[in-house]
Amino acid sequence: MKRQRWVMGNWKMYGSSETIRALLSDLSRVVSEPASCSVGVFPPAPYLSVAQALLKDTPFYWGAQNVFPADQGAYTGEIAGPMLIDFGCHFVLIGHSERRQYFHETDAFIAEKVAYVKTQGLIPVLCIGESDAERQQELTETVLERQLSVVAKHSEAGLSGCIIAYEPLWAIGSGKSASPSQVQAVHAWIRQWLFEKVPAVAQQTSLLYGGSVTPDNAQALGELPDVDGVLVGGASLDAARFGRIIQCIN
Ligand code: PEP
Repeated sequence: MKRQRWVMGNWKMYGSSETIRALLSDLSRVVSEPASCSVGVFPPAPYLSVAQALLKDTPFYWGAQNVFPADQGAYTGEIAGPMLIDFGCHFVLIGHSERRQYFHETDAFIAEKVAYVKTQGLIPVLCIGESDAERQQELTETVLERQLSVVAKHSEAGLSGCIIAYEPLWAIGSGKSASPSQVQAVHAWIRQWLFEKVPAVAQQTSLLYGGSVTPDNAQALGELPDVDGVLVGGASLDAARFGRIIQCIN
């Protein structure tokens, strides 16, 4: 993995066969020019085959919103790495705050998943971020340090080969993005932390921002020196808005 610019769309648990098909084909139309940033989408798992069929000869990448860290087994309802590879996935979202919050995923389990997906040749997109209360108590760096360290120390490969997305919980789905100065301050801190703790991977790591990114704020966020791109939720469900965000980051 090298450091590069990315725009990624997390479609969460939205869509139907009809709307996902329409979104995927609209996307290739709105982003017809080869972009200097790479673009990836995370459709809900039942539609990964649709993404594979419609995106395979396009410059778009696709990935999964979740994985279970085993190749197969009696894990009802879970999805294994080889299944994702079957559907041409390139990466997996890991540590998204909704998984930490609603599905009680711990830092240790997240670190296990990160290590596992790398054994599969998939790229982990590791999401980290603090809650509103933690920010109010000036604990942002403490929280991020804990989330990063557990992954860094879990295995020898640690954070290498990851894309990291800083997603403050209070900005996700709230319509209230972190301001450019807040984002730059945290990204600079993360970059510095990587340089100090894992210098070999610091140069190669793409650092994305996520949390209420829209066509109106993407330009300012994309111009920040330590921001390599964005992870977009709500606005990525509309091909025209997502296309405008891609143009801003490009
Ligand atoms: C997300 O879910 O990763 C996200 C960033 O959502 P939104 O853009 O809707 O805040």
